[in-house]
Amino acid sequence: MSVAAVRSPTEYEDRLRSYLFDRAEEGRAVRVGEKEVSEQAAIIARYPDLFTRDQLEALRSAEGGAGDEDRERFYRLRKACEAGLAAAELSERHDQLENAILAARVSFRGEDMPLRTAQAMLAVLPDYGGREELGALHGDASAAFNDDRLALLATDEELAAELSGISDSVERNEEEKGISLHQLNTALQRASDASEGAFSGLRASWFERLLGPEREDVPTSYHVGYLRRLSPLEGTYTKERATDVCLATLKPLGFDLANDPKINLDIEDRPQKSPRACVIASDAPNVVHLITRAAGGLHDYQAFLHEAGHALHFAGCDPELPYTFRNLARDHAHTEIFSYILEAISREPAWHVEHFGLSDEEAKTNAEATTFLEALLFRRYAAKLGFELDFWRRFRENGGSSAGYSERLTAATGVRYREDAYLADMDAGFYSADYLRAWIRSAQLREHFVREVGEDWWRSPDTGELLRELFSEGTRPSSEDIASRLGYDPLDTGPLLTELGA
Ligand SMILES: [Zn+2]
Repeated sequence: MSVAAVRSPTEYEDRLRSYLFDRAEEGRAVRVGEKEVSEQAAIIARYPDLFTRDQLEALRSAEGGAGDEDRERFYRLRKACEAGLAAAELSERHDQLENAILAARVSFRGEDMPLRTAQAMLAVLPDYGGREELGALHGDASAAFNDDRLALLATDEELAAELSGISDSVERNEEEKGISLHQLNTALQRASDASEGAFSGLRASWFERLLGPEREDVPTSYHVGYLRRLSPLEGTYTKERATDVCLATLKPLGFDLANDPKINLDIEDRPQKSPRACVIASDAPNVVHLITRAAGGLHDYQAFLHEAGHALHFAGCDPELPYTFRNLARDHAHTEIFSYILEAISREPAWHVEHFGLSDEEAKTNAEATTFLEALLFRRYAAKLGFELDFWRRFRENGGSSAGYSERLTAATGVRYREDAYLADMDAGFYSADYLRAWIRSAQLREHFVREVGEDWWRSPDTGELLRELFSEGTRPSSEDIASRLGYDPLDTGPLLTELGA
């Protein structure tokens, strides 16, 4: 076997672009239900030269001798190389697990269905008892994969520790994100506590309104999808109008998403299509996929606006930036600011008046429902981060346990989470922390827009211009860079608490 050539960082970046494009397109095909079998391993096998320990070392040493801009760029290339090495070793096992989950079926009311279909159905089933039954079936079937999930997590972790040279998971993620997860957690727990009073008022009235009198005091998490959809308001927020209303929402900001040749809209319904909307930026700014699966309800609109924020960000980056600063980020906290800020439009009462012909009173009520959901989700994620920090702190002693998962999430949300859902609920790389930073930051950004543009920030071309400037920088800045440009402390949760009504 010949020894693979070691590339310079710039040559490496070029070849990596083609590899990541293939991986993203494969991930897209499976996610949208065009393919039933994930074949990531076959793609990785086509790029053996990209992921070698020699290459990793070469990138590491290039980083050492580089100036500021290049050091950051080479760092991200090295991290991509680490991720690729890990994928090369473990993608077959990841594929196997994903394929087993795709193949699993639950039987509900005489119908056999994939887990994703069951999950999508949970959000739309009108009867409380039906959701209890299907939720339990889905939860049991999903938890059956826990041993495999945990074994894979342990293997992933061991390899990440070895490749990065940082053995502790929390420390490794802090280094990559460039923040202290503990300080973030402290600020968030404080904010979560401060939102308790406002949240419990909202919860009492919205549980009653959305789940009806037969609900338990502390309902199960099987109803969260249904709650998020605000299903009883479905008559107003129909599935059919979701795309058009969202496109019309973006127009006054100066974004013509439907006619943007860089953004491919996939709004079709397929049985194996994941119910979770997403953006896959296969090659920003030119190839960006926006994928949604409408189910009816306000959540469709929120999910579309959220993903539109990502799509416009990636499609709006300066094409002259190096590939790394268009497509590679240290984490997701920066791009999530833009999805959160566009989703926040759905919390403006006047948006409900403008697009749904509601009275001011109805609009105010429905906008309050979105604040309730926001508070529910924020508190859920803050609890999740607390749990994940504990999980990884204990990990090297006990190999990972669910202890505290159910208690923490149930206490924060007033919804009962089952203990054995802890692994399905855990995203790699502390994604929960990225979302939480975006929560803090997008509230700061909204406050900034209100100050600079006015209360009508959400339908002003001036906001579009300010956003365009931020988009043009691609993935280069961190979430904390944006805070300091706006003049905020990165951990200032004041604007967020105001939004949550606390
Ligand atoms: Zn997002």
